[in-house]
Amino acid sequence: MTAGPCARLLAGALLLTVVPGAPGAAPADAASASNALARELLEQLIAINTTDTARGNVTTAAEAMAQRLRTAGFPAADVQVLGPSERKQNLVVRLHGTGRQRPVLLIGHLDVVEARREDWSTDPFELVEKDGELYGRGTLDMKGPDAIMLASLIRLKQEGFRPARDIILALTADEEGGGANGVQWLLQHHRELIDAQFVLSGDDASVLTENGRPLFFKLVASEKVYADFQLRVTNKGGHSSEPVPDNAIYTLTRGLDRLAAYEFPFELNAVTREYYRRLADIESPERAADMRAILRDPPDKGALERLSQEASNRSITRTTCVATRLEAGHANNALPQRAQAVVNCRILPGHSPEEVRQRLLQVLSDPAITVSYLASDGTLRDEAPATRGFPPPPLLPEVLAPLDQLVAKTWPGLKVIPAMSAGASDATHTSAVGLPTYTFSPLEIDPNDDRSHGRDERISAASFDQGNEFFYRYLRMVTSR
Ligand SMILES: [Zn+2]
Repeated sequence: MTAGPCARLLAGALLLTVVPGAPGAAPADAASASNALARELLEQLIAINTTDTARGNVTTAAEAMAQRLRTAGFPAADVQVLGPSERKQNLVVRLHGTGRQRPVLLIGHLDVVEARREDWSTDPFELVEKDGELYGRGTLDMKGPDAIMLASLIRLKQEGFRPARDIILALTADEEGGGANGVQWLLQHHRELIDAQFVLSGDDASVLTENGRPLFFKLVASEKVYADFQLRVTNKGGHSSEPVPDNAIYTLTRGLDRLAAYEFPFELNAVTREYYRRLADIESPERAADMRAILRDPPDKGALERLSQEASNRSITRTTCVATRLEAGHANNALPQRAQAVVNCRILPGHSPEEVRQRLLQVLSDPAITVSYLASDGTLRDEAPATRGFPPPPLLPEVLAPLDQLVAKTWPGLKVIPAMSAGASDATHTSAVGLPTYTFSPLEIDPNDDRSHGRDERISAASFDQGNEFFYRYLRMVTSR
């Protein structure tokens, strides 16, 4: 097997010889120069360790990309590197438009999850091309998409393109963990730098494939809200040789049984409705009929039951709460003085964690069980946040229409399917302040072989090139009117 780093020198040479937008420069040259640049940026980003460890440094990556942008012709005043601490600086760059429309904000995180050389087949911090695949930590999540956004922006700048709206790109720290989330920090301290009509996040590979065949293009337009709760029962305890009916463990587990049997109400929103409406067009006739039947008001009970047998359908049509940890007692020969559990909830947008806490109290229906909110920093609070997650934004035609068009052109027959993610990303922060946020990156991924956060993370080299060209065109379309 041959393995080697990418053709950095060749890429550099191409950049020097092709002046995009110059008279006589064929579009094909501009496209291949842009692909070479994207590859070069990816190689550079992968080589900079941006994990939240002693070896990692996000600022180094932010500075390196800032230098690239200045070299490509962006004025220094439009390229800012800023953040709360020395190692957690973020990059914000702006391509000025005519101001006819409000800006679009592109976001991508620069940090990656830790990767150990001994776990990998290749060095995770070196971009390696092998059998048509690009290997390296972050190729997928999400230095690949970062490189594509950067290369597209540079190409537009060098072509002298004047968009109808400013294009802002923020490459940020601590999406994966760490206490200095860049998107949150920028929103709190420099909202004016990144304020926009809508946000495009590249934090998801969108072309879902099976055995190499594209199935559909996933556009994430909403996310559930994450919340942990601690359930707790205390008891005076006693000697286990003389048991009494009032037992902290039994009280808690009876409550958990009631929770296990409970289902939060079925609820669709603008995004999940469109998800089932469009998915029905490419599903088997039986499943398609079920999907259309749950879109009716009221939804068809039988159809809902059949679809709800799949966890993925349950998770996007309801708030879910599930017990994930359990701890009780202090000695083998003592009645338990304490029993507690952690319940993890994924809340549908439009509802607040406090609303869910109140519902948990009703479902547990035993005043002996207290329910506290367990904040992300580990502290317990009597009440949970009462702010409701923003309901999903409407699917803006200025975002969706060009995407539909370009996807159909690039992958004939492929459908854009708007989706709600049960996970959470930086889109949570932008959505929380009311910025409509759409997440996609035009890269192929086989959901059965998703290596993000895992070993031997990779993307297909051909898909990376195609994705780079796709994103450039999309960005042009979305900012042309
Ligand atoms: Zn990510």
